Amino acid sequence: MFPNTKEILRKARTIWALDHASSLMNWDIEVNMPTEGIQERGIAASEIALLRQKLLLDEELSSLMERAEKEELNDYERGLLRVLKREIKIAKSLPPELVQELTRVTQEAKVIWREAREKDDYNKFKPYLERIVELERKAADFLGYEKHPYDALLDLHEEGLTTDDALNIFSLLEPGIKKVLSKLEFYGEHWLEKQKYEIDAMRSLNLELLKILGYPLGSRSRFDVSAHPFTIHMGIRDVRITTRYEGFDFKRSFFSTLHEFGHALYELQVDDALMATPLSKGVSLGIHESQSRFWENIIGRSMEFVKGIQNILREKLSFLRDVPAEEIYRYFNIVKPSLIRTEADEVTYNLHIILRFKIELKMVEGSIRIEEVPEEWDNLMEDLIGIRPRSYKDGVLQDIHWSMGDIGYFPTYTLGNVISAQIRRCMMRDLPVYEDVERLEFGRIKNYLREKVHKWGSVYAPKELIKRSFNEDIDPQAFLEYLEEKYSGSYL
Ligand code: MG
Repeated sequence: MFPNTKEILRKARTIWALDHASSLMNWDIEVNMPTEGIQERGIAASEIALLRQKLLLDEELSSLMERAEKEELNDYERGLLRVLKREIKIAKSLPPELVQELTRVTQEAKVIWREAREKDDYNKFKPYLERIVELERKAADFLGYEKHPYDALLDLHEEGLTTDDALNIFSLLEPGIKKVLSKLEFYGEHWLEKQKYEIDAMRSLNLELLKILGYPLGSRSRFDVSAHPFTIHMGIRDVRITTRYEGFDFKRSFFSTLHEFGHALYELQVDDALMATPLSKGVSLGIHESQSRFWENIIGRSMEFVKGIQNILREKLSFLRDVPAEEIYRYFNIVKPSLIRTEADEVTYNLHIILRFKIELKMVEGSIRIEEVPEEWDNLMEDLIGIRPRSYKDGVLQDIHWSMGDIGYFPTYTLGNVISAQIRRCMMRDLPVYEDVERLEFGRIKNYLREKVHKWGSVYAPKELIKRSFNEDIDPQAFLEYLEEKYSGSYL
């Protein structure tokens, strides 16, 4: 190890410690904190953010890094410099007044968005969206970009992803998914979607699921309840997930548990040697989502998984006693046009993302006025999915993301779906994946994911990781092949 690296790691460790504390504070907000604690927690969080900024912009750190760059470095050292440089660049580019203004506006906008959605009143939210787009556009200019201001916002959420990349992915997926849909017979409601369950029974099923998957509950992880399921990590040895219990339609709680398990496994299988460094975490939102989607869809919604787990399902949920595996599979995989992204199946889901991408691009370019957004939304919805929202609530006001200033975030969901299918395709060349799944044997699959993706943490940038581990570029064709194979003809 180059001696400067040790010094850099020493300084980075303090930043890591603040992140460790912030993660724990954020977990606590969602799971434990009394409601009125939020104000002081907010003050504490913004002080920590300021302190973090200071440490990141420390001149000594920068000069250590400059010197290190001139040396012969190994992959880990290069990764360390890449991750820190990227953070420093963002911190340096954005003027503190802009960051403060964005924080202030989005904090307010989140509350207003909630009210606007409840009252189905777009006009209430409109001035906030206007301001947020304006500020994000400014941020893009400060961050800099080669071709399109949206590049800067995409890169903020997914290192290295460009507007051209996204256009390439979506221009292939849109006709491809429409083609799959055109050949599909839709099945309306499924009775299990209305079936109520006992929360204790469902919790016991989720715990059994996690046990089968080898989730290290208690020793290195937790499993709690929160309004919106999420995964958070304090480090490699402390990774926590949550789920929720709606009380009906058990696949919601079941698949959200499996989804978050996928996120958690990524963090749990990062190489121990990276502990307490800036490299000891999943590299990006897109790669992270590929892991959650892999477990949720590629594995969890397969016929082999249903066959493997059917007896456990029947033992835990008595209403499934006489339901055959084919029927459960059908319930897990109902495809139908829906207005709400979070309720969409794996075929239509990415059309919801394409819609948001198209609108975001126009908003950032300034080629659409903010008052025209709902109309544009409804038209795109009709074109892409074939149904038209009757309210703002079921249309433009459904997602929290824009109110939080997260413009350029949505494409990472589709990127995750695409990469999960690429991983499936590659894994199937090396392993009898679905034989293992049917026997509920996940050792080899987890090993494969660890060696190809997880253990590297953030050592390699997302595109480089995919290239090195799978010898492929981002390839949306893999996702279409997966859909076509699964949903061709009468799939149910
Ligand atoms: Mg996720």
